[in-house]
Amino acid sequence: MATVLCVLYDDPTDGYPKEYARDGVPALGRYPDGQTLPTPSATDFAPGTLLGSVSGELGLRSYLEGQGHRLLVTSDKDGEDSEFDRLLPEADVVISQPFWPAYLTAERIAKAPNLKLALTAGIGSDHVDLDAAIARGITVAEVTFCNSISVAEHVVMMILSQVRNYLPSHDVVRRGGWNIADCVARSYDLEGMDVGTVAAGRIGLAVLRRLAPFDVHLHYTDQHRLPAELEQELNLTFHESAQDMVPHCDVVTVNAPLHPQTRNLFDENLLATMRRGAYLINTARALIVDQQAVVDALASGQLAGYAGDVWYPQPAPADHPWRTMPHQGMTPHISGSSLSAQTRYADGTREILESFFGGTPIRDEYLIVDGGALAGTGAHSYTAG
Ligand code: NDP
Repeated sequence: MATVLCVLYDDPTDGYPKEYARDGVPALGRYPDGQTLPTPSATDFAPGTLLGSVSGELGLRSYLEGQGHRLLVTSDKDGEDSEFDRLLPEADVVISQPFWPAYLTAERIAKAPNLKLALTAGIGSDHVDLDAAIARGITVAEVTFCNSISVAEHVVMMILSQVRNYLPSHDVVRRGGWNIADCVARSYDLEGMDVGTVAAGRIGLAVLRRLAPFDVHLHYTDQHRLPAELEQELNLTFHESAQDMVPHCDVVTVNAPLHPQTRNLFDENLLATMRRGAYLINTARALIVDQQAVVDALASGQLAGYAGDVWYPQPAPADHPWRTMPHQGMTPHISGSSLSAQTRYADGTREILESFFGGTPIRDEYLIVDGGALAGTGAHSYTAG
């Protein structure tokens, strides 16, 4: 019998939903690169229901208990005496979502002698100390592609809402006003702008594809160059580095994993090389940008806008400066947790657990760390040490 410790975000403030805005979610065939959707042996939830919160339990309880395992679910994950810390020594498996990450630091891993699998119900395993996981032989896995398109849609929404000054204009309506000039004095068309992505992986490429019909000039930088046909099809300009790219862009979107090479990439110096009045959209990880440098760049006008859904730490404290800085379109970390995405990552979580408990290999594309080394997607996108 194994103990599975699942850290999930709180239920809605007015209770777990009894009904939903829509009936179900569209069923997809495959992901855009041909990867198949998760293939668990069965599913014990209705697609489109809230699975990522405590009462949703990622739809895992009947499956796990039916197999004789124990499922512990909590949202209490931070501070010295959190329930997560109290339960961790018993856990064989820890599951959490990047939206409400259970930070598995080296210290916490040291307090979890039974831990064998750290599973991210979503994408991005930077909340796990990968070096400590490697040293301890813990497998780290995530549900690759489950919410990449969800995030790409959020990025496109945020780019348009920033450039067109949507949120302040909506606010005028809510406040009963009608001053057109208040709304349009910061409103532009995206058409004709230079838009660049730092990284053109699953999310970055999906953003490029979605923006191409807007008649913008598309730029990208990545560790590996995209195929020439794709560059031609989307009319992409490749740059060797973010440093090379950002001076040429009106809008920059960040879609790279957080690792030593990207941590604090957008510091005061890099922001200073951007065009005055550029927009920066970051749905990747907060620590890729310098928190205070963003606040200062918005105050000085170097940045015309900043939007994203990633913060550090998460949840962000009530006095986090990004809540109140000007010209921001921040949301909590929600882009990858739409009900559509939850269905996919709950399925993927179950698929990974079925492989793990059944002693069959976890799909290579889900692996970040395995057998004491970076593996699968992790070997491609992360760096150890
Ligand atoms: P992918 O692994 O598909 O793509 C990541 C890309 O980043 C790869 O192309 C990789 O390069 C590239 N890359 C890595 N390091 C650098 C670097 N230093 N400079 C430029 N490019 C770099 O991941 P996804 O697109 O699915 O996700 C990207 C990130 O988005 C995740 O790591 C996660 O942090 C974040 N995310 C956020 C979510 C949210 O809810 N806000 C949800 C899902 C993900 P290459 O492959 O060429 O080596």
